[in-house]
Amino acid sequence: AKNKGKNAYEVFHEEMAHKASKRLALEANLRKALQNNELSLHYQPQIDVRTGRMRGMEVLIRWNCEALGGAVSPVEFIPVAEESGVIVPLGRWVLQTAVRQAAAWRKAGLMEDIDHMAVNVSACQTKDTQLMYEVQALLMETGLPPRLLELEITEGVLMENVNANIALLHKIQAAGIHLSIDDFGTGYSSMAYLKRFPIDQLKIDRSFVNDVPGDGAAIAKAIIAMAHSLNLSVVAEGVETEEQVAFLADAGCDVMQGFYFARPMPAEELEVLLRERRLW
Ligand code: C2E
Ligand code: CA
Ligand code: CA
Ligand code: CA
Repeated sequence: AKNKGKNAYEVFHEEMAHKASKRLALEANLRKALQNNELSLHYQPQIDVRTGRMRGMEVLIRWNCEALGGAVSPVEFIPVAEESGVIVPLGRWVLQTAVRQAAAWRKAGLMEDIDHMAVNVSACQTKDTQLMYEVQALLMETGLPPRLLELEITEGVLMENVNANIALLHKIQAAGIHLSIDDFGTGYSSMAYLKRFPIDQLKIDRSFVNDVPGDGAAIAKAIIAMAHSLNLSVVAEGVETEEQVAFLADAGCDVMQGFYFARPMPAEELEVLLRERRLW
């Protein structure tokens, strides 16, 4: 009813204008988010399938924007941050905050069961030649052993610029930092590329896990078999049901992450789980 009396072009034009202005508002507010202390990090446990213990955690950014009236999803603002370049200071802040948190937990003796803390790296960050220097300076400053840090790079980003990324991955590996390919199965990498990437782990994309039982089951099994034949460990993300847990455990998946176990949570809450040495 709101479009009554307008032709298709006018409606289209209005929608485009609305989208563009929403994006501009997002971008303008995002630039101020850092100074305004509106960003925070949540941590989602990753569970070892064999022991039921928390073996790692993934760092996920949260933005509570006062001007926009509340939480904005990273699905919405990360792409805007990438296109506008805000991802550079934002990504730096994420790494800094996460590494400092990991170092503090380690000093408190809470990281003994933990293999690593995983941080998402965006397309822009992989092109940033400063990235490796900054990460290494951060590890030096905090004293965090590099093996406790894992970087997650999506399969799509890796495949955009294979040769440059192989060089970057080698630098990351040489620094002792772990590497995980995120959203695996959605980015069309061949076995040949996988062998050339110096990586430690694949994360089966949520869309396949979601589709268990269903076609996702066969795909998940194939990814697990392939990963193990290449000596990589496998994380299933987006695990929500008992049925998925049973299937993935049976299929030999190494690590699981998802709402079935725990949602992403603030540092204080994750710290409680670490102190309790919680078993699932
Ligand atoms: P991702 O890296 O694939 O992260 C996993 C997403 O799945 C997270 O969404 C997480 O909250 C959600 N998730 C976890 N378990 C379940 C489950 O069982 N069911 C369902 N339905 N969802 C689950 P979130 O936090 O909204 O983040 C979305 C995406 O935004 C991330 O996808 C990642 O691509 C990006 N992102 C988040 N934080 C950062 C960051 O610090 N840096 C960068 N570059 N990207 C980030
Ligand atoms: Ca991720
Ligand atoms: Ca993912
Ligand atoms: Ca690993």
